[in-house]
Amino acid sequence: MNTSRLLSDRVKQMEESATIKMAQRARDLNAQGIHVINLSVGEPDFDTPESIKAAAKTALDQGITHYTPVPGLMELRQAVATKFKRDNNLEYTAQQIVVSNGAKQSIANVCLSLLNPGDEVIIFSPFWVSYPEMVKMAEGVPVLVHAGIDQDFKITPEQLESAITDKTKIVLFSSPCNPTGSVYTKLELEALARVLEGHPDIVVISDEIYEYINFGEKHFSIGSLPSMKDRTVTVNGFSKGFAMTGWRLGYIGAPAWIASACAKVQGQFTSGANSFSQKAAEYAILNEVPACETMRDVFLSRRDLFLEKLSAIPGLKVNKPQGAFYVFPDVSAFFGKKHGEFVINNADDLSEYLLSEAHVSLVSGIPFGANACIRMSYANSEEEILEAADRIKNALAKLEG
Ligand code: PMP
Ligand code: GLU
Repeated sequence: MNTSRLLSDRVKQMEESATIKMAQRARDLNAQGIHVINLSVGEPDFDTPESIKAAAKTALDQGITHYTPVPGLMELRQAVATKFKRDNNLEYTAQQIVVSNGAKQSIANVCLSLLNPGDEVIIFSPFWVSYPEMVKMAEGVPVLVHAGIDQDFKITPEQLESAITDKTKIVLFSSPCNPTGSVYTKLELEALARVLEGHPDIVVISDEIYEYINFGEKHFSIGSLPSMKDRTVTVNGFSKGFAMTGWRLGYIGAPAWIASACAKVQGQFTSGANSFSQKAAEYAILNEVPACETMRDVFLSRRDLFLEKLSAIPGLKVNKPQGAFYVFPDVSAFFGKKHGEFVINNADDLSEYLLSEAHVSLVSGIPFGANACIRMSYANSEEEILEAADRIKNALAKLEG
């Protein structure tokens, strides 16, 4: 059978998710009895708060086990609209909210709803690995605009302006950012919005899924600026802040015409999201933000601990992430060095080396668009983080040449 002919070009051109791949490799090695410290997966290590689980159990007992409306249960959409107003100064009606199987699906829905072949999507780089693949799946063209560690991984208004063409349809970014942990301030977002004011036919997808894991100034949503309101899709979800990755719930607030298009796409692919997860999410968003804050404080103390250890490793160049639970050091000082059979030519080589030599799994920066960096998640116990930092230090010290 000619499987290569049968497989679609679409799938052949798609990269496998590097984050998911590395997390699986860590699990496989652990299953073989090798103690690998997993800093690759972007997932809180906390269990979902008990009260949220209890809300799901109650929903099950009440028989909420049926299909829901495609864009989500009305009471959850109303709760999300309340949240947007309460936390983000965003005015969305329930009709402008679409709930999906994770923010991943939310973003894919928007890409499929807006893109025609050849349409350009400006993606701030470093970027989350799935963005360009989703754009390509929708036959769009990813246009990467890069910011290095020396500009705190944040692009400037001038960079944005010069990337815009008459084919640009979407600008897509996350803040707090996966993989860098950088957070765009209100002032920075206002400056980017001023550029977009000159280009009215561009939609912004603002991925705010790490909103509640923010250590700096209050989170700001670009869609709350009057000039951006009618053309911003605000993406958020429950996976990160509420430690609900397995519940698979994300959502958008969007102009009504985009929300309807997304619901149409979703209605043919997957229908409404899980019914009793939605009831738990409604409870979470209305009552459990304090639990997110407690988890955020723990992430902050882990960040400081990890940064202190990493800053003491010669050759690692680290910035101070203001949100999410990642550090994204520049490791280019090790390129050209070797140990035994390992020759380090790039960030892929270094992450393979650290997995093999230090038994620490992390993700190369290359799939995030940053060839000089590696991504490490500190959503792990203090003990494991400290142990990982020691292992990394020892393995890097062995590199010479
Ligand atoms: N956006 C970003 C930046 C992420 O890191 C993730 C994590 N997977 C998602 C969206 C999607 O999250 P989920 O599908 O679990 O809601
Ligand atoms: N977003 C997380 C990460 O970047 C989870 C894995 C994924 O969905 O890619 O690791």
